[in-house]
Amino acid sequence: MDKSFSTSGPKLEKIQNYVTHVFAPEDPLLAEIRERSAREGLPQIHVGPMDGLHLEVLVRASGARKAVEIGTLAGYSGVRIVRGLGPGGKLWTFEFEPVHAAVAAETFKRAGIHEKVEIRVGTAIDEVRSIENQGLFDVVFVDADKVNYPAYAEWAAQHLRVGGLLIGDNSLAWGMIADETFESEEDRDAVRGLRAFNDFVARSGRFKATLMPTGEGLTVAVKL
Ligand code: SAH
Ligand code: MG
Repeated sequence: MDKSFSTSGPKLEKIQNYVTHVFAPEDPLLAEIRERSAREGLPQIHVGPMDGLHLEVLVRASGARKAVEIGTLAGYSGVRIVRGLGPGGKLWTFEFEPVHAAVAAETFKRAGIHEKVEIRVGTAIDEVRSIENQGLFDVVFVDADKVNYPAYAEWAAQHLRVGGLLIGDNSLAWGMIADETFESEEDRDAVRGLRAFNDFVARSGRFKATLMPTGEGLTVAVKL
């Protein structure tokens, strides 16, 4: 039997269907967030069901109590983070679109976790300063403007406890991470930001890091 196989095309689809069937990454509460936020006209750029599950499992494995999220949107990933937190856990999540923040507030209420979540509305890189006195933190999940990923990583390096997790979403840049030419300046700048983020966690000596090639790509880094 030929043990080498290519995980693409129909084979990949079969594998994905198997994984989704066995691990059932999305319950009705999570599915409702996607539906309601689409009705409200929000961009449908939540983490995928499996990346959401990865997030929950990673947060739980790390024994986290205090988590920070950059980029709330409708609260989909926020719910997953909070589900992974231990007793007395708390999430501070940052969002600059008030409409997104309002949809997320409704999400956290429906999920029965609004007392564990603080949504801060504003530009994340400025707003995070307002919670520095609550640190050190156990988890920082970065999922907002890609050009500022390096700045968020620097903030995380300063405000995570040793052993804390920095997780970056979309770290394969929608397949463009290794490209040399781009269709727009926006794409080029996003890729530059994501590369700088990956370089920083992989090579600065401040983290032990890996990149899980989940499709979107999830960079996972432990603070040293
Ligand atoms: N983490 C969410 C998806 C976030 S999408 C989930 O998986 O469910 C990215 C969000 O970041 C958007 O809602 C966008 O409005 C917000 N955002 C973009 N740039 C920002 C900034 N500079 N400060 C705060 N929020 C920002
Ligand atoms: Mg994302």
